[in-house]
Amino acid sequence: MRSALVYHPHMAAYRFGPGHPLLPERFTLAIELMRAWDLLGGGADQAMEVAPDSATREDLLRVHSEEYVSLVEDERSSARADATHGLGDGDTPRFPAAHEIASLIAGGTCRALDGVLAGEWTTAFAPAGGLHHAHRDRAAGFCVYNDCAIAVAKATAETPGLRVAYVDIDAHHGDGVEAAFYDRADVLTLSVHESGRYLFPGTGASRDVGEGEGRGFAINLPMPPHAGDAEYALALENVIAPAVRAYRPDVIVAQLGADGLASDPLAHLRLTVAGHARLAAGLVELAGELCDGRLAATGGGGYDAFSGTPRAWACAMALLLGTGIPDTLPQRWVELAAASAAAHGFPATRETRTFVETPTLEPDVPAEETHRLAEIAIEQTRAACALLSG
Ligand SMILES: [Zn+2]
Repeated sequence: MRSALVYHPHMAAYRFGPGHPLLPERFTLAIELMRAWDLLGGGADQAMEVAPDSATREDLLRVHSEEYVSLVEDERSSARADATHGLGDGDTPRFPAAHEIASLIAGGTCRALDGVLAGEWTTAFAPAGGLHHAHRDRAAGFCVYNDCAIAVAKATAETPGLRVAYVDIDAHHGDGVEAAFYDRADVLTLSVHESGRYLFPGTGASRDVGEGEGRGFAINLPMPPHAGDAEYALALENVIAPAVRAYRPDVIVAQLGADGLASDPLAHLRLTVAGHARLAAGLVELAGELCDGRLAATGGGGYDAFSGTPRAWACAMALLLGTGIPDTLPQRWVELAAASAAAHGFPATRETRTFVETPTLEPDVPAEETHRLAEIAIEQTRAACALLSG
């Protein structure tokens, strides 16, 4: 299976500054681990490395307003104008060359998906992408331009009739992507996330199913806090797989945010790296079954940036390639990750194995209760979803 890693080193400049939790190391260390595992290079069983161009203004304007793009471009804009559009102080502060870097990341996700659709490669991974909270007119949740929505909007504009299933397993609701296609039937958006009662952005209830022509083509599964591998396996079996099968997409776009890991400091979920990999593997299998393997994946959130997130995304690259996942982490990568963590004031990672199944803090609710709440959420989503209950 031909596969591509779509990445440009300038993407690592998507950095909000000291103390901000979204760190580019989440994907730079993932790529270093892919390299240490010998997954890159374009040989047999290796992904080819592709450096994309920036998304064009035309691409950006399929999703964002002219006013917003001009504001992001204008580095001397007023604090008030910034604040109106979600930039400046707060979650998504300005950083140097934000427009150029966010456009390059958007270009990467476009290139990944375009290459899949053109048959250049069957699967692709754009690990700096997945900035799923950006809205038409505003930045939000650390996201400036919504690369996922931009890539899908470009692909559907250039190939009328194309059916895209966007599946988002980030801990947070994929609200910006959902909003971009909420009234469209040619793009299914399916987000499995920690319930908005407990986590940003607060949306993504089971009852939110799309509107107009898009009614029934937005699916939301809000998981209870503490949900982990067992609950996500149920979600894959009872919501993701049957919904994507019923939809019959031409291609799957997967946002593989890794902030659902138990080690993540922002969300309250309990996935292990192995559990995250099982979800990614499930999506690869669905693509194989339904759309000749065509799958374009992005990264997303992931705030355990020096261990869990890079391990999860290097596993995803191995799965997209169809190769096995190595058991152990190369010593030189462990040292690199530890040095990188130390340089940013984080505790050094000690993991030497790919899958480290150490339970973290005991949840303050019994595991059976979490499981029961997840079953109820799955039932509610199935009941609300015409693709699953019709
Ligand atoms: Zn997230």
